[in-house]
Amino acid sequence: MAEIEEPTVDVKLFVDKDKKKVLFAESDKEFVDVLFSFLTLPLGTIVRILGEQSQMGCLDEVYKSVEDLSTGFFQTKACNAMLLKPLNAASSHCRRLKINVDDTKPRAVYVCKDTSCCAHGDRAFSSFPAAICRCGKAMQYAGDALEDDGDLALAGGAREIISLLKRSLISKQPLTALYFDDTIRNDDADLYVLPEQQNDADQKLNIAKIKVLQTKKNSLLYVEGDAEFIDFLFGLLSIPLGSIIKAFGQWPPNGCVDNLWKSIDHGSGEGSVRQECQSLLLSPKTAPFCSGAAKVLEVDELDPTLDVNCCFKCLKTYDFAEIGRCRQQYYYCRDMVKITKLCELNPKAPKGGNGNGVTYVKGGHMKFMVTDDLHVLPLSLSTTLQVLCDANVQTEELEEREIALTKFQVMEIQRAALMGRAALSTVLLPPNRPKKKIKAET
Ligand SMILES: [Zn+2]
Ligand SMILES: [Zn+2]
Repeated sequence: MAEIEEPTVDVKLFVDKDKKKVLFAESDKEFVDVLFSFLTLPLGTIVRILGEQSQMGCLDEVYKSVEDLSTGFFQTKACNAMLLKPLNAASSHCRRLKINVDDTKPRAVYVCKDTSCCAHGDRAFSSFPAAICRCGKAMQYAGDALEDDGDLALAGGAREIISLLKRSLISKQPLTALYFDDTIRNDDADLYVLPEQQNDADQKLNIAKIKVLQTKKNSLLYVEGDAEFIDFLFGLLSIPLGSIIKAFGQWPPNGCVDNLWKSIDHGSGEGSVRQECQSLLLSPKTAPFCSGAAKVLEVDELDPTLDVNCCFKCLKTYDFAEIGRCRQQYYYCRDMVKITKLCELNPKAPKGGNGNGVTYVKGGHMKFMVTDDLHVLPLSLSTTLQVLCDANVQTEELEEREIALTKFQVMEIQRAALMGRAALSTVLLPPNRPKKKIKAET
């Protein structure tokens, strides 16, 4: 097997060896581009490339919950993939970087290959396998809308960049830590001070109902929530880092990755970031149909349409590899339309439906248990008993409260999810509770 040379970027570090500190780094645009590309990464991708050891608040736990929850609880198989391998809306740009830490496959396209399909006029496609066309047939792979560069992306050279990403999320001095190879430890995120929020009508609207099970002494056992509530938590995985920083105005104070965002937003590098790239980095979009969490955080979704340079019939027949045939006289394609606007099916809607606003997990009577560190399980008698047993509390010490959450509270839970391991009690328990210092595991 031929050896592939790993891509590298050159960085000159100026180091104060006495103080054991990196003063600054000098580099060319390649390194800066790689740093800026962190902002385009959906949180689920960050958790995945950091081996579920991202130490970003409760997000590792949220990710594991999605992994552990059996597919039967999701609306479709695609729901699971949308969260565990979220699409990077800027992938066509990131793939041109010298080192691209996002190894998510570029946009795959699945179509119904039946050329006389009754839903042919929909020009529907799916980005996920196992999608069902409205005609009832399974959609099949037609290639990637962006050409595949093979495995060039995630080479072992990227290892230090990934380490730098991790350190920038949970440390104030990522370059120093990287250079001196300090063991990664999570600096304590102090219970944060909530920035003022406007209290307009929208913030007061109730958007999810939950039940809180707590002891009378104010310690939270779990929260019972429905599909809508779970969407606000799971959906965080699909939101790109840059849009999280935009929504909350900052990254949790133990990290410093928001300095990247601010250096673009405040124009300290004015002229250095191309205009069209600014919004790509400052408010990166999610994949289409993420809704839930994206709506609350006011993150835009990628346009669900896709232009293809051939008629739909030729795409079905020849796949992306040979769509050029559509324009070659020799093949006698009679269709005058040589550009087709494909429209993505909602991957959350089973059976080719177009149900908008469908949640990731199945709704109806199904309820879920969410622990303080945001582990999500289907609610059942056995899980409930297990929690009570672990907490060693008697039933008479318990108290149940029903809360209708406002948009503001949902955002607070999402923010707390990034900060520490007690996301629910931080927000839901009355403020006079004994303050539990949030200390992440090392
Ligand atoms: Zn069909
Ligand atoms: Zn054609």
